[in-house]
Amino acid sequence: MRLFNTLTRTEEDFVPADGKTVRMYTCGLTVYARGHIGNFRTFISLDVLRRALRHQEGYGMRHVMNFTDVDDKTINASQQAGVSLREYTDRYIQAFREDCAALGLESVEENPRATDEANLKAMVDMIGQLTARGHTYESDGSTYFRIATLPEYGKLARLDHEGIQAGARVDSDEYDKEDARDFVLWKATKEGEPTWDYGCGPGRPGWHIECSAMALRLLGDGPIDIHGGGIDLIFPHHENEIAQAEGATGRQFSRFWVHVEFLKLAHEKMSKSLGNVYSLQDIIDRGFRPSSLRFLLISVHYRKQLTFSFDILAQADAALTRLTDFLARLERATEGEAHPAIAERVAAARAEFRAMIASDLNVPGGLGVMFELLREMNAAIDAKGMSADDAALIRDAFEEFDRVLGVIALRRAEDSAPPFPADEIDALIEERRLARRNRRFARADEIRKDLEARGILLEDSATGTRWKRK
Ligand code: AMP
Ligand code: ZN
Repeated sequence: MRLFNTLTRTEEDFVPADGKTVRMYTCGLTVYARGHIGNFRTFISLDVLRRALRHQEGYGMRHVMNFTDVDDKTINASQQAGVSLREYTDRYIQAFREDCAALGLESVEENPRATDEANLKAMVDMIGQLTARGHTYESDGSTYFRIATLPEYGKLARLDHEGIQAGARVDSDEYDKEDARDFVLWKATKEGEPTWDYGCGPGRPGWHIECSAMALRLLGDGPIDIHGGGIDLIFPHHENEIAQAEGATGRQFSRFWVHVEFLKLAHEKMSKSLGNVYSLQDIIDRGFRPSSLRFLLISVHYRKQLTFSFDILAQADAALTRLTDFLARLERATEGEAHPAIAERVAAARAEFRAMIASDLNVPGGLGVMFELLREMNAAIDAKGMSADDAALIRDAFEEFDRVLGVIALRRAEDSAPPFPADEIDALIEERRLARRNRRFARADEIRKDLEARGILLEDSATGTRWKRK
C-alpha cells in the first residue's frame, strides 16, 4: 500500500517492519469536552486506515490510541467544574466511547490513559533516560527538554533553526512554530493541581511526553510503523514526541507519520477553543444519522480540507441511501436472468477499489468505483432482472468494500435499532391509538409528527400500527 509520509513529504510503499503486524499509535482525544465532528474526521480517517491495513492488506494490528486525561486544558476544565480530574475526564472518556461506537469505529488494541500509574512511571523513566543523555535541565522544579542538544529537532515540521532562540523556555502545552523553544517535560506542582512524584519531583507531565512514553511502553522499541493524528499536531506535539523518544533511545521513533487535514466550518478550523463546534449529538438533534456523518467525513480525501455544512451532510445522506436502496433492490431482484458478463465486471471493480485504497487511501476514488458499479448493475436489473448468483457476487463485492469503509454496516445497524428505546415508541403508539379512539385527532397527529421528527415513521394497517426508521 502507498501512504503519504509527512516525515519525507512523499508517498511511499508501506509494509510493517516485521511484514505482519502494524504497530500504530494515534493521538486520542483530550478529554476536557465532548469530541467534536472535527476530531471525528481525524479518528474516522485513521479508522479507515486501520481497516484498510487489516481487512484489505491482511496485516495484524497492534494499535494504541490514548486518552489525554491530564494537560493544561483538562486541569482547567475540571477546576472550573469543581470536580476531581479523574471524575471529570471519566465523563468524557465515556462519551467518547459512545460516540465511537455510534460512528462505527473499530475498537483498537489499547486505549491507555496518561494518568494510569504504569504510564506516569514510563514518562518519568523516559525523562530519566533523556537526562542521562544530556537533553534536559531543571528550573524552578520543572524539567525541560533542551532542543539545542538535538540537531535534528524540527525535522518533521521542517523548522528553520535560525529562528529558534536557544535557552528560552515554554511551559504551555500548545504554542506556535514561531515560538519553538525548550519545552516542558515535567511541570512542578502548582497549588490546586493534581500531582505525582515518581522521581522527577512533585508535579505532573507535560502533554508531549505522555504520547512518546505510552507509545514505546505499549508498542515496544522504536521504530514503530505508523504514528498519526490531525494536521495541527505536527507542531509542536509530534515534533516534541520525536525529540523525546529519539533523544531518550537513540532510535528512530516512527517510520511513517500520517496527518489528517482539517474539518472546517465557514472557512475556520473547527475547534473547541474557538467555540465553533458541533458534536455528534448536535448532528443527531438536527435529524441526521451518524452513518451519514461518517459517509461525509470519509468522502473527501483525508489530506484535503473539508468544509462542513448541513447541505453537504444531506447530500452524503442521500448518497448513502442510494447505496442501501440499491443493495435492497439486489435482494429482491433474484428472479431474473443470468448476465454472463457480470462476474468479470465485478472482479474488475474489486480490483479498482483495492487499487484506489492502496493509493494513499483514496476513498473518494473507491466510492467512485462503487457508484459506477451501482449504476451499471441498476441498468442490468432494469434490462432483465438478475439471477440470485449474480446478485450474490455483487453483494459480496459491496461487503468487501464496506469492510474498509465501515459505513453500510453502520447504516444497517442503525436501521435495525430504533434511535431511542423501542418501549418509548410503543408507548407513544398506544397513546396515539387511544387519542384517535377518543377523537382527539390533533394529539394523535402531534404524536405522529413528533415521532417523524425523531426519525420514526408510522404505518397504519388493519392489524395495527407498525414503526420503521425514516
Ligand atoms: P484534541 O482533543 O484537541 O487533542 O484533538 C484530538 C484529535 O482531533 C487530534 O488528532 C487533532 O489533530 C484532531 N482535530 C482537532 N480539530 C480538528 C479539526 N477541525 N479537523 C480535523 N481534526 C481535528
Ligand atoms: Zn499525542
